Amino acid sequence: MQTFEMITKMGHEQVVFFSDPSCNLKAIIAIHDTTLGPALGGTRMWPYASEAEALEDVLRLSRGMTYKAAISGLNLGGGKAVIIGDPRKDKSEALFRAYGRFVESLNGRYISAEDVNITVDDVEQIFLETNMVTGVPLIHGGSGNPAPYTALGVFRGMEAACFKVFGNRELKDRTVAVQGVGSVGFELSLLLRDAGAKILFTDVSEENIKRMKEACPQAQFVDVNEIHKQACDVFAPCALGAAINDQSIEELKCRIVCGAANNQLKEDKHGLELKKRNILYAPDYLINAGGLMNVSIEFEGWSDSKSRRMIDKIFETTLDIFKVSDEKNIATNEAADFLAEERIESIKKIKTSYLGNVLHRFPGRKNRMQ
Ligand code: NAD
Repeated sequence: MQTFEMITKMGHEQVVFFSDPSCNLKAIIAIHDTTLGPALGGTRMWPYASEAEALEDVLRLSRGMTYKAAISGLNLGGGKAVIIGDPRKDKSEALFRAYGRFVESLNGRYISAEDVNITVDDVEQIFLETNMVTGVPLIHGGSGNPAPYTALGVFRGMEAACFKVFGNRELKDRTVAVQGVGSVGFELSLLLRDAGAKILFTDVSEENIKRMKEACPQAQFVDVNEIHKQACDVFAPCALGAAINDQSIEELKCRIVCGAANNQLKEDKHGLELKKRNILYAPDYLINAGGLMNVSIEFEGWSDSKSRRMIDKIFETTLDIFKVSDEKNIATNEAADFLAEERIESIKKIKTSYLGNVLHRFPGRKNRMQ
């Protein structure tokens, strides 16, 4: 497919390629939709096999951010960036500062943050050149590590799913199988532990398994290939995407799928497959939006309580999605898309009227009302 064809097909507004050979920077920033506000999304660094692969990734990811911001009630658009390179070899101060200068040149249309292989230290260097970056260290007035906030959102989504399936939001005595106890999975497990849930967990990292055993001694370790097969109330994918696929879906013995991982459904059709099996799916891009909500308030002055108050609303929004799914008899992932698109379209409509300020054409002339 030709580049413009790809961009048009997915509905992007702008895709910008940046290059600075002096520091080996090759970056693409994709701005998908700014109806609701500036496009906010993280920067990913990855040794893509080809430029086409990098472009495809940034287009897909930025579109996902539009939906995530819209469903979360944020006044933000969707954007994402990729830096083509090997994070182990190609990172340098010059590269991140050059990148920051390019972000600045977009005049606030795109706001960056951490994503895969981009650390808080990298963000600190981007921040030297532009204010249009979030996930800045606490010491600079930023919001720091997003994982506890992402986990809180997943927990609220899980409460909503329990409310729908069991008639109350309590996690006490519910069995939750957590796949992956990395940054978010671990924080989620702490919330589950404190709520009195029974935790089953797995991971491939010895270090993270050890940390989990120390923090949650009651939690039971399960083999990595067995976790999704456990008889449980909730299966919580918190590692990689595509946890729900043709094979795993046949082996699930849970009532709810609700976790932090992005793109949990290998294909959209798996949402409907879950519905047919009477397994309630809490759509990933809403319930893992706590991290985005957290960084979104950096510009107005971040505070822990403001962030948590915002994230708590994921409970109600998740219930709204379940309601639309029931009313329209569609899968919950489709219901989430429906509500996100509906919000964007409704805001687009109110922007059609001209508001009557022509003074920008006559810079010297004062408004008669002044
Ligand atoms: P992470 O890398 O800290 O944790 C992932 C964990 O999964 C690691 O402990 C890793 O060892 C483990 N893992 C890898 N392969 C596995 C396998 N096959 N089976 C079981 N465990 C396996 O990442 P994270 O920041 O916790 O993010 C987890 C997921 O949540 C990702 O999909 C990420 O995109 C998504 N997410 C994260 C955030 C955030 O705030 N960090 C926000 C939104 C979405």
